[in-house]
Amino acid sequence: MAFKLPELPYPKDALAPYLSAETLEYHHGKHHAAYVKKLNELIANSKYAEMPLEKIIATAGPGAIFNNAAQHWNHSFYWKSMKPRNGSKPSGKLATAITQAFGGVDQLKKAFNDAANNFFGSGWAWLVQKPDGSLAVDKTPDAENPLTRDERPLLTCDLWEHAYYIDYRNARPDYVEAFWNIVNWEFVASNLK
Ligand code: FE
Repeated sequence: MAFKLPELPYPKDALAPYLSAETLEYHHGKHHAAYVKKLNELIANSKYAEMPLEKIIATAGPGAIFNNAAQHWNHSFYWKSMKPRNGSKPSGKLATAITQAFGGVDQLKKAFNDAANNFFGSGWAWLVQKPDGSLAVDKTPDAENPLTRDERPLLTCDLWEHAYYIDYRNARPDYVEAFWNIVNWEFVASNLK
């Protein structure tokens, strides 16, 4: 049972002008695809070959199998974290949880942007739900993700340069600011427990 590159949940040009079709072409079609291909090569004929992705992430420990498995999971989650801009906002239970944790959506954005923009190197910014139910911003280096930290991922932004270099060159803050226009709040809400 080999892992498969998931289809993007929208056409490649649907996130423009915030993310271009060229970025999605490379990021999904080359980078994400390479993690899936590498993962399948690494786990072929091993004890991981029939494991669900989450179990590989939980058990593999540091190394190439973890890195490629987690990058496959993180990218699959990232594509779903976005959708073509429709002006939607957090509502209901999600809006209440954001207000409780941060004071409001603007304060959440500020905390998330600060975390993303001050993070050195490659990694991921996350909105997570902690075991006590409260929300928090987290960041993880390289391929790591909140699953190994006992946190529930709600939203992620890829901070690797390959996520933004075509559209924003070195300007990560511009990319992170643009990201808010295409956040899929319905997906975020669906991840709440
Ligand atoms: Fe990426």
